[in-house]
Amino acid sequence: MIDLVIPDKVHDESRQGEALVLEPVAGKNNGRKLYIESYGCAMNFSDSEIVASILAEKGFETTNDFNNADVVFINTCSIRENAEVRVRNRLKEFKGAKVKNPGMVVGVLGCMAERLKAKFLEEEKLVDVVVGPDAYRDLPNLIEQVDGGQKAVNVLLSREETYADINPVRLNTNGINAFVSIMRGCDNMCSFCVVPFTRGRERSRDPFSIVNECKELFDNGYREVTLLGQNVDSYKWVAESQNSEVKNQNDERGVESTIVNFANLLEMVALISPDLRVRFSTSHPKDITDEVLYTIAKYDNICNYIHLPVQSGNSRILELMNRTYDREWYINRIDAIRRIIPGCAISTDVITGFCTETDEEHQDTVSMMDYVQYDFAYMFMYSERPGTLAAKRYADDIPEDVKLKRLQEIVAKQQQYSYTRLQEQIGKVQKVLIEGFSKKSVTDYCGRNDQNAMVVFPVNERYKPGQYAYVLAERSTTATLMGRIVE
Ligand code: SAM
Ligand code: SF4
Repeated sequence: MIDLVIPDKVHDESRQGEALVLEPVAGKNNGRKLYIESYGCAMNFSDSEIVASILAEKGFETTNDFNNADVVFINTCSIRENAEVRVRNRLKEFKGAKVKNPGMVVGVLGCMAERLKAKFLEEEKLVDVVVGPDAYRDLPNLIEQVDGGQKAVNVLLSREETYADINPVRLNTNGINAFVSIMRGCDNMCSFCVVPFTRGRERSRDPFSIVNECKELFDNGYREVTLLGQNVDSYKWVAESQNSEVKNQNDERGVESTIVNFANLLEMVALISPDLRVRFSTSHPKDITDEVLYTIAKYDNICNYIHLPVQSGNSRILELMNRTYDREWYINRIDAIRRIIPGCAISTDVITGFCTETDEEHQDTVSMMDYVQYDFAYMFMYSERPGTLAAKRYADDIPEDVKLKRLQEIVAKQQQYSYTRLQEQIGKVQKVLIEGFSKKSVTDYCGRNDQNAMVVFPVNERYKPGQYAYVLAERSTTATLMGRIVE
């Protein structure tokens, strides 16, 4: 039986703290065991696969029991305060294991490492090594340094590192869906956000390495890839070579160069096979182009699902957030999606109680939800992050109970719309990629339709996970469609 692990969301609550286990690399065993667990967004989970792959090459085996490990890594998230609190609490749980095994190396990786740098070593005596997201190639040296009795820190951010040549081995996924990182960092300076400080400048990965990785995944039985970046619409690769699949230009020096933008990249990945589903996240309202929308509409295997974070429905708040679009612009992009890709599912992120937000301004967010009628939303109360533009410029002046009340209001509204959206599918036949058995019953399969809705239906022996099935949706809960295979 296949264990069901559905990397359906870019921030998947059910995967928080998940440990990664890889198959040992043949002929490379140094007798030491690595334990690595991850928090935060899909990018962090994807980075942990890179870390584990780098150390597997050096002979480390992975384990899912930190008590058994020689090296314990925690890949961290800084996006909201509670994400950091969670990591601090988890570190306390590693203390007992370190007392029993004083040679154990404890490392903090990712965004919190980058944000706190060497200060982490002072604040958490247990920690031996602190490594930022662009310094993972240095891990073998840093571990050696700790073995030699020192503490080690590398939080250098890079303008080039994309780990393009490291093909992560994916083992604790379901073998059907995979995340593929297409860019790193972020050049937007949304005033609430810590990401530009923890993940550095935006850089795009070589498209040919992306296509090769996706091809390899497809050849190994994977049937869905999610292309990951903080702002996929600003993906851009310039190469001084020719490729007939993408447009050519002459630069000022007369050198012929090839520009691959996000629409081109989507097309290149979609062309690998019509049986490979392509998803992507996250789109930015200021950058998503009609060209991208037409590319989605052109290829059946590019899923009709766009995650387009609005953050707020009020133009003054959007300006304070430095999102660089206003309410009208966002509505224009929604209208373009509805026009070019009819039936496309849309999800969003919303922050309630951003600095100075009034009740009327909050109501603009509510009315935006009524306008768009999102299929799904991730909703958060504003959490001030040290060092961000908002923390420097504006007071975090909305009381927590007001933030919470506003959050509850939009959560209740979203639940209604999620349910209504699913109801619209009832009576329609859905093309579902079977991902495994349903969580609740081994007599049911589950998988997603094109629009990313979960569909559960009775197992039919002629179908296996990894295959597509046509399922008639007959009823729904607030989050899941239920039906039966039709042939
Ligand atoms: N790059 C993506 C974008 O621009 O939408 C998402 C980045 S972030 C990892 C995911 C979401 O976390 C954001 O869209 C925002 O809603 C939320 N977020 C970021 N900083 C936050 C903060 N300080 N307080 C509350 N929510 C925050
Ligand atoms: Fe953060 Fe804005 Fe960049 Fe998204 S686009 S990662 S919210 S700075």
